[in-house]
Amino acid sequence: MKYQSFLIKYAEIGIKGKNRHVFEEALVHQIRIALRTCGGRFAVNRTYGRMFVDCLSEYDFEEVTEKLSCVFGIWGICPVRAIDIMPIGELREAVTAFMAEEYPSGDHTFKVKTRRLNKEYPLESLEVNAELGNAVLTAMPRFTVDVHEPEIMMHVEIREKIYLYSHEIPGPGGLPCGVGGKTMLLLSGGIDSPVAGYMVAKRGVRLDAVYFNAPPYTSERALQKVKDLAARVARYTGPICLHNINFTPIQLYIYEKCPHDELTIIMRRYMMRIAEILAKKNDCLGLVTGESIGQVASQTLTALGVTNEVCTLPVFRPLIGFDKEEIVQVSKKIGTFETSILPYEDCCTIFVAKHPVTKPRAEVIRAHEKNLSEKIGDMVAEAISTDEIILIGADSEKILKRREDEA
Ligand code: ATP
Ligand code: MG
Repeated sequence: MKYQSFLIKYAEIGIKGKNRHVFEEALVHQIRIALRTCGGRFAVNRTYGRMFVDCLSEYDFEEVTEKLSCVFGIWGICPVRAIDIMPIGELREAVTAFMAEEYPSGDHTFKVKTRRLNKEYPLESLEVNAELGNAVLTAMPRFTVDVHEPEIMMHVEIREKIYLYSHEIPGPGGLPCGVGGKTMLLLSGGIDSPVAGYMVAKRGVRLDAVYFNAPPYTSERALQKVKDLAARVARYTGPICLHNINFTPIQLYIYEKCPHDELTIIMRRYMMRIAEILAKKNDCLGLVTGESIGQVASQTLTALGVTNEVCTLPVFRPLIGFDKEEIVQVSKKIGTFETSILPYEDCCTIFVAKHPVTKPRAEVIRAHEKNLSEKIGDMVAEAISTDEIILIGADSEKILKRREDEA
């Protein structure tokens, strides 16, 4: 085993004052969940204000670092070599060997940074720094010391054992999942909504998701695409309950009864209404969409206002100020992009008007929605009764059980 532990660095949790332990416990919990699907046994420990994942058996380095780099709340992951306490002479050799193995070319600037938490160790931190710096330079003269901006920070932590580390693999940042309640994500097959879900979840919020499906106008493949997107997002958020709603009858009814340049906006209002009912039923504290100002006709400020007016829950639009290119960058980073651009039709692309209104007036839209009054109440209830809950992500069985217990 090359690395016996991983030091977990967390940034923002560190400044949460009295609630710090709540965040730390949530992070430990999320790390345990993430590692449950890895081969190997691990222990997550907190000591001296630091968090470690100790590896208790052989494991796959790539797999473990991949899983950890999806856990919100982690800022950095440092693979650690743990060695027994040893006199400075032997420690000089151990650190030299570590540096030679990690950086065989030797063409780097470095600095040794020691923390001596075990006060029984006979040398002080500064003395250890000097000894080890000297040892590396003597053994490998290509290295040079730079105490201000070293390329390599060789960390040496002396505790019940001695920990050596110099690499840091970036984590996703944010806050551990679940500390901030739950929201309902309107998840389409596009580029934006998975990114929106990721952004909100990054702040510690759990997700349920709803997909408005339009069979037979949309295919099974379109639903599969949404499931795949949810699964990608679930790597970060943990399990997601995806609500698959049959929206076809409502769409056809709107198509029949309302002016076609208002289809998108009226459809969007019914999506929001249904999403809100589902959200309340499932203890969600808000709705999340992938809207961004001006991106399409239904996302002008006026249109967003008209869409928004049907909701009583807060609607979170984390991409509101993002350019498309910025959204694409995040979607590539989280691995949803390739799936999002698959060309399967979506309900909105099928029922879209050639020239949708960009400045809808709320009173006009409300008046046209009256055309629907005969059947729409029943149709909304019917749509909600089609709710097919698809469990996405690792712990699905446990969630299903909890829901059954609650029912
Ligand atoms: P996306 O890339 O997320 O599909 P978009 O740029 O295609 O967004 P719209 O189609 O106008 O934008 O949709 C705006 C938002 O409405 C989406 O980000 C999503 O949150 C929600 N939405 C749209 N269509 C659906 C759908 N079929 N099911 C669930 N939510 C949807
Ligand atoms: Mg879309």
